[in-house]
Amino acid sequence: MNIHEYQAKALLKEFGAPVASGVPIFSADEAEAAAKKLPGPLYVVKSQIHAGGRGKGKFTELGPDAKGGVRLAKSIEEVVANSAEMLGNTLVTKQTGAAGKVVNRLYIEDGADIDRELYLSILVDRTVGQVAFVVSTEGGMDIEEVAASTPEKILTLPIDPDAGVTDAAATRLCDALELTGDAREDGMKLFPILYKAFTEKDMSLLEINPLIVMTDGHVRVLDAKVSFDGNALFRHDDIMALRDKSEEDEKEIEASKFDLAYVALDGDIGCMVNGAGLAMATMDIIKLYGAEPANFLDVGGGASKEKVTAAFKIITADPNVKGILVNIFGGIMRCDVIAEGVVSAVKEVGLKVPLVVRLEGTNVELGKKIINESGLNVIAADDLDDAAQKIVKAVKG
Ligand code: GDP
Ligand code: MG
Repeated sequence: MNIHEYQAKALLKEFGAPVASGVPIFSADEAEAAAKKLPGPLYVVKSQIHAGGRGKGKFTELGPDAKGGVRLAKSIEEVVANSAEMLGNTLVTKQTGAAGKVVNRLYIEDGADIDRELYLSILVDRTVGQVAFVVSTEGGMDIEEVAASTPEKILTLPIDPDAGVTDAAATRLCDALELTGDAREDGMKLFPILYKAFTEKDMSLLEINPLIVMTDGHVRVLDAKVSFDGNALFRHDDIMALRDKSEEDEKEIEASKFDLAYVALDGDIGCMVNGAGLAMATMDIIKLYGAEPANFLDVGGGASKEKVTAAFKIITADPNVKGILVNIFGGIMRCDVIAEGVVSAVKEVGLKVPLVVRLEGTNVELGKKIINESGLNVIAADDLDDAAQKIVKAVKG
């Protein structure tokens, strides 16, 4: 789950990280009062959407010459004017996709005088099986680009979970970021704070781009992007309360109600599979035969007929879906339960696209019988390869 920048900053502030004062607003009427709470004379008006690259983003409704999604303002009047222009409009950034995201919230922040922009993130580094810091002096820009063109400017530092961020680790991070004087003292304090926030709140990603050194020599968290581990959310009611459903895919919200592992994708072949590994393999093989999956979906091991029905309905409700591939290798999951779920969903919502079903494993004969006797127009497949070829052919002709 992701949260907004202003929420992430409030959270980091609780742990003692240096962030600017700021006020979130939901309508332009609130802009003046928000700015008056800040010291001035420099303000920043920041679009709050769950995507990065806002500064360089474009508002589709405002024409090519309009400023981006993060704007500096030198007076309260400018804050008000920019807020009125930005709220309610669609911001397209590198991370939103072409459709963009509507800006429904702004964060009015005390502006900083920046000397240097640095990059810092904390993530779960699966290659070493540890939480790691990733830092670079090249902040404020695309870290992917830095990694591609000047990888020597990035330090990845895994943290021993028993020791935490030791002085030695913090020193290495300060060195890599070339922090001196007050900024170095700030850094030595900040790194353990960020690590504590990351582990205590079960984050999966904390990205601060940029972390800045201000002209007064001190360090500040200027941007903050946080993702939480969905499997740990049950123990963080405070984080759950920050959820902004308007930023999430409707199909994913629906799927989460039924505890389905579903991720919406851009392709046109809907997939219903049991087991995450098989679901990944199914997506791979669809791509191998030249098509793109519309979703990842693992219906899980012990799914009920109701759950399968819900899953199938979510797939068919996606207007991009031009064909559906059901790929079940029934071990714990019984093929007859899947078959009943598919038949019941089709009876409810109809079937307007080709459907390929590949069933194997527990109760496979019963499952096939249920489908054959249902009168559904199903294309049967024998194995995964056969199934993928058949659905790609049915969709592409
Ligand atoms: P992003 O574009 O979504 O990553 O949004 P950021 O919060 O990183 O802001 C984009 C850029 O705006 C930063 O890299 C800074 O260059 C600039 N910026 C943001 N806040 C301030 C500020 O307080 N003062 C100044 N001078 N520039 C800022
Ligand atoms: Mg940024």
